Amino acid sequence: MIEKRIISEEELKPFLDSDTIADKTKALLSQQKKVWKLPKEGYKSLEKVQVKVFEFDGFQIKVQFNPGRIISSSAKVDKKSIENRKCFLCIKNLSPEQKGILYYRDLIILVNPYPIFPEHFTLPKIDHIPQAIEPNFEGLLDISRDLSKHYIVFYNGPKCGASAPDHFHYQAGLKYFMPIDSEYPNIIKQSAQKLVEENGSAVYAVDKYLRNFISIESNNKDFIKKYFNKFFDIYKKISPSDEEPMLNIISNYEQNKWRVIIFPRAKHRPYQYFAEGDGNILLSPAAVDFGGVFITPLEKDFNKISKDDIIDIFRQTSISTEYFEFIKKELAKNDKKCLFI
Ligand SMILES: [Zn+2]
Repeated sequence: MIEKRIISEEELKPFLDSDTIADKTKALLSQQKKVWKLPKEGYKSLEKVQVKVFEFDGFQIKVQFNPGRIISSSAKVDKKSIENRKCFLCIKNLSPEQKGILYYRDLIILVNPYPIFPEHFTLPKIDHIPQAIEPNFEGLLDISRDLSKHYIVFYNGPKCGASAPDHFHYQAGLKYFMPIDSEYPNIIKQSAQKLVEENGSAVYAVDKYLRNFISIESNNKDFIKKYFNKFFDIYKKISPSDEEPMLNIISNYEQNKWRVIIFPRAKHRPYQYFAEGDGNILLSPAAVDFGGVFITPLEKDFNKISKDDIIDIFRQTSISTEYFEFIKKELAKNDKKCLFI
């Protein structure tokens, strides 16, 4: 079954610049837009979407009116709804025209036919296994390095925007589309707290960007893994024990170095999502929104959303100051000292 879904060298060849996995991924998009109606239309309508930009102190939030995202933004992700629908990431349920690139035998790179980014991919596991970051964090580092010529890779937790929480997947999007990609160095310089520093690697905390985040920067994969695991263990202590602590992650690899940005979350959807009448805003924040692009699938919301709404939505959905302070304090504790007690 899977063999039929892997795109052949012959099919990719007319679109290919080089043999790297990043260029193959780019070529896949061109090929799929040629042979498959859904992405052909999806990317065409993306060219015409309306965008407005809100300026904050040293950074921007873009709002994109994107009707194609209604399915994802309004997806029911409760257990019962998930059990009652066909999984759209399982190979057997893909559209007949859809093909992908196999990545290390267990993952397939697919074009996202309902794009937010001008180039947008879904990277599901071949097997139908649940969305969970702990066993897949190293995979996120690998694939973000391998796609880094063109793309960043991100992860939405099962209760933080993943519309298929039952089927493991990352996503990839064109670099520098999200404001955070270019704003990050300045934000770090101006307002980050450095929690850890070791041989050119570092862990930072930022709380002056409307949304709180932890970032880990290093050319050493072990350093990134060590501090992600440490973060995750701390975060678990203040999260309900029966589910994954709520988070979104954006991984960028540049100049031989990873930059992993982690957004711990207080809740999935703001109260506006559930409000009736004028107060309703259908917005379901995930990694892209936390990266600085708010997605509104409905025109009424695109027209009325204000700067205050953006501040309010981040305030509700980003981790609280109290919990963030706890994470920062615990992360900054020096492990080496403890070893010698
Ligand atoms: Zn599935």
